[in-house]
Formats: sequence, C-alpha cells, structure tokens
Amino acid sequence: MNLEVDGDRLSREIEELARFSDAEAPAVTRIAFTPTDLRARTWLISRCQEARLAVRQDPIGNIFARWTGSDAAAAAVGTGSHIDAIPNAGKYDGVVGVLGGLEAIRTLERGRFRPKHSIELLVFTSEEPTRFGIGCLGSRLLSGTLTAEAARKLIDKDGASLEEVRQRARLGGVLEEVKLPSGYYQAFVELHIEQGPLLEQQKAPLGIVTRIAAPASLRITVEGAGGHAGSVLMPDRKDALCAAAELILAVEKAARTSGATDTVATVGICEVFPGAVNSIPGRVKLAVDLRDTDLRRRDRVMWAIDAEMERIAAKRQVSNHSEVVNADAPAECAPAIIEALSASCAKRGHKFIPMVSRAYHDSLFMSRIARAGILFIPCRNGYSHRPDEYASPEDITRGVRILAETLARLAE
Ligand SMILES: [Zn+2]
Repeated sequence: MNLEVDGDRLSREIEELARFSDAEAPAVTRIAFTPTDLRARTWLISRCQEARLAVRQDPIGNIFARWTGSDAAAAAVGTGSHIDAIPNAGKYDGVVGVLGGLEAIRTLERGRFRPKHSIELLVFTSEEPTRFGIGCLGSRLLSGTLTAEAARKLIDKDGASLEEVRQRARLGGVLEEVKLPSGYYQAFVELHIEQGPLLEQQKAPLGIVTRIAAPASLRITVEGAGGHAGSVLMPDRKDALCAAAELILAVEKAARTSGATDTVATVGICEVFPGAVNSIPGRVKLAVDLRDTDLRRRDRVMWAIDAEMERIAAKRQVSNHSEVVNADAPAECAPAIIEALSASCAKRGHKFIPMVSRAYHDSLFMSRIARAGILFIPCRNGYSHRPDEYASPEDITRGVRILAETLARLAE
C-alpha cells in the first residue's frame, strides 16, 4: 500500500492549532475548557468532519472521530492524544498524536485502504493536570480508573466544580456514561513526541515504548504561624516556608538516594500565604510529582517523604497535611502492539529503539482497557512543556507513516 503522508498540510494544521492560545506565540497555553480550548475543539471537529469521520463527544468532552470499518460491530482500533497545553508550553505535545492521527487516517483513505475494524481518532480531555490538579482526566474516566463519583468532587483552581465547568462547556449527559464498555477498543496506539533527549542522542528516528513509568502526585499543606516580619523574634517563629524549604530538599534527596536513576521527584508548585514581603509565611502549599518504573521503589520514596515531613513538622512546630492526588501503577505496553509497530518500522526501513516512557500519557490508562502502545518521535534537545519545543516535519511525517502502517495492520 502506498502511504503518502501530506506533511505540508499537517505542518500547516499544527501551526493553525497553535494559534488557539492564551499565551503569545511561540508559546501555547490552552487549559481544558477555557474559551480558547473550546474554540480549538470546534476547529478540530471541523477538520475531522472534513475527513468524513463520524464525530461524537462524551460527557467529559473526549472527542471520538470514527472511520467505520467493513465490520462495524467489531472492536475498534484507536489512536489519539490530547490538545490541552500547560501554561507557556509548545505546539507539539499531544498535538502530534491528534493531528498526526488524523493525517494517518487520511493517508490510509488516500491509499485506498479499507479497514475491517473501525479506526477511531480519540482526543482526550485534560491530559494535563493544570485545571483540576489531576492528569489524564478523560482517559481515567474512559478506563474506569476514576469513578464518576470521584470526578464530581473535583474542583478547579478557581473553585468551580467539574460539573459547573462541564455545564458551561455545554457538555450534556452524566459522567457515568464516559466509561467505555469492555472490548470497545481492540487496540490503541498513541503517537507522541519523546519529551526527552534519548532518541536524538542515540540518533534513532523512532522509539517504541515498552513500559510507562508509574506517576504519583501529592498535595502538601504546611501550617505554621504568620505574623509581622519585624516584630516576631526568631525564637518565636513557626515559619511555614522555612519548613517547606526543608521538605523540598528532602523530596529531592529521597529520589536521589532511591538506588535507581529511574526515580524522579519534583516540587513544581509552592504557594506562599499571605505572600507579602513583611509577613511571615503562615501557610505553604506544595505539589510533589513522583515517578518511577518500579512501583515498590516509588512507594518507598513516598513513605520516605512522609516520614521526613513528620520529622520536620515536629522540629519546627508546624503542622502538615498531605493528600495523595493520584498514585498510579506503571503499565507494560502490549506485546501485540509493540510487534505491530516494530514490523511497520522494519517494513518501511526505519530504525527504532525500545524505550521507557517516563512521562505518562493517556495510553497509561488506555492500557487498562485495550492492548496499548506508544510510538515516540524525537523532539529537539528533548525540550517539552516550553515554547521552544520542536519536532521537525520529517520526524513527524515519519511517525505518521509508521502510525498509519500500524493502524492498517491492526484494523485488517
Ligand atoms: Zn502529552
């Protein structure tokens, strides 16, 4: 089969989608369910309809665009990713999997391929945790990893509940309807930029993911005692920020001393209250992100952080509260998908390396309900989640060609 990927159109569409942004170009900010995100979704749905795909949205706003196969009742083959972007991000994270997935379908249509199984493009809602504090909201609900009841308790950073936000976005239905019936997908393949430097360093044009690391995130609040920065003397202070500072270093140390380079831990948010130069910090909120390929080691680091928090709190006479936002297990990618991707690379004469995905993706949750896998393409210097994120048109086109080939194999 001839697979002519229209790389020029795809590049143009990536640029067009990047214009739906709340940050100045080249930065992209597109938080889930903001007016900008909703406009981007409308634009994207039009592109899918132009490709004659049947489009539907579920009650959380996951978009499904289906190319119906000759056996319409057979389990579908899915591909896709997300279009939401964290503040000040780039154009390619998620987008390459969505617009690249759409182009893979168009490429197969042009190549006169006739799928037996339907091929479906899936655009997941809120892969990024920016708005509701939890990542992969759409795929967690689809896979039943997050229950509708738990989702209804989510509050965004401005205090609006998920239900309110859904209503404003005019999404009907109840969240219970989001979970997919078992056997809906027989396979799911996600195309994504690597977001790390290994492909570039090893001069490999493609990476086939074998495992996805286990992510966890914690919200920690440290309560001390505020007061006037001039009049409260040092022996009498219970400075919440000083306690938090010790804790941040303890998080770093716990990851560094886990015994494996696979353990990574980051404190990415530190909010100080009241946040005035002449006021002693009375309360600090931290967000901790923790990942490892080994679940037990990841959990040991979590417990070590807990123990350090208790020690610091006792020493500094502050109190603390810690909440586990999520603590997910790692996933193995399905051997059948790894094989289909490898065979596609071999057929088209492209080198690839097997890889661990240290960032998590919607495929982590799709792997709970379907045979799932991820194809990585390089991104310059491994940069991601920043405005200078870049993947070359050649690398994107190659990835789309392998994705198309793989979808064809799985949908035959
Ligand atoms: Zn992503």
